[in-house]
Amino acid sequence: MQTVAILGRPNVGKSSLFNRLAGRKIALVDDTPGVTRDRKEVEAEIGGVPVRLIDTAGLEEAAPDTLAGRMTASSESALRQADLVLFVVDVRTGLTAADRAFASWLRKAPCPVLLVANKAEGRLGMQAAMEAYELGLGDPIAVSAEHGDGFGNLHDEVRDRLQAEPRRGKEDRERPLRLAILGRPNAGKSTLLNALVGEERMITGPEPGLTRDAIAVEFRDAEGPIRIVDTAGLRKKARIEKHLEKMSTEASIAALKEAEVVILVVDALQGMDEQDLRIGRLAEREGRALVIAFNKWDAVEDRTATRRKLEDTLMSSFAQMKGISVVPISAANGRGLEKLMPTVRTVYELWNRRVPTGELNRWFETMKERHQPPLVEGKRIKLRYATMPKARPPTITVFGTRAEQLPEDYRRYLVNSFREQFDMPGVPIRLHLRGTD
Ligand code: GDP
Ligand code: GDP
Repeated sequence: MQTVAILGRPNVGKSSLFNRLAGRKIALVDDTPGVTRDRKEVEAEIGGVPVRLIDTAGLEEAAPDTLAGRMTASSESALRQADLVLFVVDVRTGLTAADRAFASWLRKAPCPVLLVANKAEGRLGMQAAMEAYELGLGDPIAVSAEHGDGFGNLHDEVRDRLQAEPRRGKEDRERPLRLAILGRPNAGKSTLLNALVGEERMITGPEPGLTRDAIAVEFRDAEGPIRIVDTAGLRKKARIEKHLEKMSTEASIAALKEAEVVILVVDALQGMDEQDLRIGRLAEREGRALVIAFNKWDAVEDRTATRRKLEDTLMSSFAQMKGISVVPISAANGRGLEKLMPTVRTVYELWNRRVPTGELNRWFETMKERHQPPLVEGKRIKLRYATMPKARPPTITVFGTRAEQLPEDYRRYLVNSFREQFDMPGVPIRLHLRGTD
């Protein structure tokens, strides 16, 4: 079982968070800092993953009453056991020197850290939570431990970070894959949508997890439910198909954020232009899995030449997404759709894939032996080890002395070889570098 530790300065709401996650009232909650005297531990399920949850509230008191004392004596022991840290800050009081000291220490933690912005109930609270970005620990997750707001998202994020095998239970199969269909006007997006969804179409309205104005069409393929997400402020539900035509870049970005996989529909008769490439790059930037559909294949005369030309454009424009999946289709007569959806499923699985730490570091050692990191300003960069704190998209963190100075070409070398070694064509890969002393 994996261990999740809750850390943070006194009174930010660690015990309240612990209780909420544990689902029972266990820890004593009080206004007086450090009132919870013993370390609390409980077995709980977060995001469907069984974990051992540790609350470090109260440990502060046992340690010498200095910042350094607190962090070394109490939190460090919890950190050593943790597979994931929930670092809690209080958005009502705002960030304090103690929060910043904690954060800079946690940026070097050997396990992933989730930044939890607590007491963020209400709209003002959600806004205040954004302030926590500056701690350099990624996106803050706004919650209210007292009111229970934001816990759906917190559960999802915890599940993503833990190295749990995705569960193949009923619940998992019933969770729809989120898909966005993007492309230039007239590429054939609406035709494709109608061909995929057919008569079973069901339009769902605003719901938790989708941004306020998002709407979605849901259908099933052989593997399970698929939700085509689409966002735009004033869109009328029933007219989703028409509006897909007019999607601006802004709307594309919004849909991208809601989606897990993006199908970029390209009009094969027109070829790829700057607008297509821009959407592809946006998908990459947002970390989405991408599949390219060359549409109107029925009307293409010289298929071999057309395909070669389209693929040349792709190769020269998407160096970062080498090996991207391409499927020729005809949305109008349905040809190729039997290949399109399995491709979407495959890319989705790769995008979700985790590489175990041992396997990752064997690869990493080989890469270092093959090419040593270069000297920077006369000093050698010493890379130590790699972890994969999350998937969706696959994210690698490399630790080492002066790691953050690693030149661009060496980063690319690592990313490309990772993609090749672990067979993830068309999947965006994130590389983070963390300096250690
Ligand atoms: P700990 O010292 O970090 O364990 O903090 P506690 O869980 O004991 O909470 C400290 C105080 O903050 C208590 O008075 C809680 O009721 C309060 N608190 C905890 N969570 C929230 C929240 O989400 N919103 C608000 N407004 N107060 C909270
Ligand atoms: P959208 O603006 O991207 O939603 O594009 P539409 O789905 O409205 O299609 C634009 C035009 O392309 C329409 O005239 C469609 O009939 C046509 N079209 C769409 N898919 C195909 C296809 O697979 N083959 C051919 N020949 N025409 C298509």
